[in-house]
Amino acid sequence: MAHENTAASSRRRDMALRPWLAHLEATGRLAIMKPGIKLKHELGGIANRLDGRKATLFPAAGDSDISVISGLLSDRNWMAESLGLEGAALLEVFQDAVAKPLPWTEIKDAPCQQVVHDDGDLLSLLPIPTHNEHDSGAYITAGLLIVRSPVTGIQNVAIHRLQVSHGRELGVLLLPRHTLAFFNEAEAAGNDLDVAIVIGTDPACLLASQAIVPLNMDELEVAGALGGAPLDVVKCIGSEIRVPANAEIVIEGRIRANARAPEGPFGEFPQYYGERAERHVIAVDRITHRHDPLFHTIVGGALEHLLLGAIPREATILDTIRRTFPSVKDVHLALGGVGRYHLYVQMRARHRGEAKNVIMACFAAHYDIKHVFVVDEDVDIHDPRSVEWAVATRFQADRDLVVVSGAQGSKLDPSTDDGYGAKMGMDATVPIGAPEFRFTRIRVPGQDEIDLETRIDPAVTLATLHGWSAQPGGGQKP
Ligand code: MN
Repeated sequence: MAHENTAASSRRRDMALRPWLAHLEATGRLAIMKPGIKLKHELGGIANRLDGRKATLFPAAGDSDISVISGLLSDRNWMAESLGLEGAALLEVFQDAVAKPLPWTEIKDAPCQQVVHDDGDLLSLLPIPTHNEHDSGAYITAGLLIVRSPVTGIQNVAIHRLQVSHGRELGVLLLPRHTLAFFNEAEAAGNDLDVAIVIGTDPACLLASQAIVPLNMDELEVAGALGGAPLDVVKCIGSEIRVPANAEIVIEGRIRANARAPEGPFGEFPQYYGERAERHVIAVDRITHRHDPLFHTIVGGALEHLLLGAIPREATILDTIRRTFPSVKDVHLALGGVGRYHLYVQMRARHRGEAKNVIMACFAAHYDIKHVFVVDEDVDIHDPRSVEWAVATRFQADRDLVVVSGAQGSKLDPSTDDGYGAKMGMDATVPIGAPEFRFTRIRVPGQDEIDLETRIDPAVTLATLHGWSAQPGGGQKP
């Protein structure tokens, strides 16, 4: 590929998973386990214990000779780093990638098709773990599910939870988003919808799969723009779907028309179980993979799960809101709000009521957003304590609260009625026209500039200074 002339090329990493894993190891952030860790609960338990600190690699997991990896992007800064960025630029680069996606490049002889299986109990070839206590069984949790619109041929990429129902069948939860829209088109015509499930992709593909972009935008083109070069793709053996060529594992199959079967429960990002219900069914026709493939799993509810959903959403929510309200500076989907439900908004409000309009725009930006907190520029929206301080000292409930009842929310929020519920916004900005000094935050001038190394005296103790100190086995001498 001879794509070298953009600013993006300077931050381009190899568009594959393995270089990122090697980078994590080289920087002390990869824990490699002993072989044979149990797929049921033990693997997830270990990954959770190291969540946010180290990625994990489980050689020959369970009875398999395939290694499992987890926690690849379990820190906000790792996500930026995986794209070669400083943290602050992440949302900006994501917005640029969504605005200027890069068409992919099709190749032949892709690594992800080095080995092909189409007989027997295909899913038993893979080390698929069971994570949370009440999960109905083994789940593929980090699979990029790719479909093509039967009408336009444009692809969609998303992550859906995939229950292993038996050796050649998966149960899939299709929330009311793009995959379901494409499937509904196929099913209305009485047809199955071809699908590819891609496991073990580079960080750019994982992040791009979570972009909130229009229906007819292929997220693999966003991945190319994020990575700084067109993504290499290859055509599936049994369909027209194009998948990332460097992926570790690809499952080819079909979402079956007029078929539903029980799926769930499954431990989800809100830290609750998604309930068991009749859901869509995927017939598995083929598995292809690299030599010695890696199987990526995301433990339900872990930081990787929360952050993968949160950060791409922040980028698109910020972009959407700023079109009407350029006074908005930054947004953050707080981890305490499971990276989906609580949005912190930082703005410079200039007009009476403006913050309330921003609150309403936030509700419209994504139906998962449930509670919005709007604060001024002197509040750090990446610090929940700072946001709480603004609510505690600048918010009056009878004046600054917005409540909307009977709105669409997240079906995975157990306090809603199957996704039907209330919204709340808090305007915790300083009222327009308030006397400035009344809301001036206290500070010690020059505090941050003091060089403590030059002020602390390590040679002096209480004993040398005042002639007394704590004694072992005795009290302090007066
Ligand atoms: Mn989409």
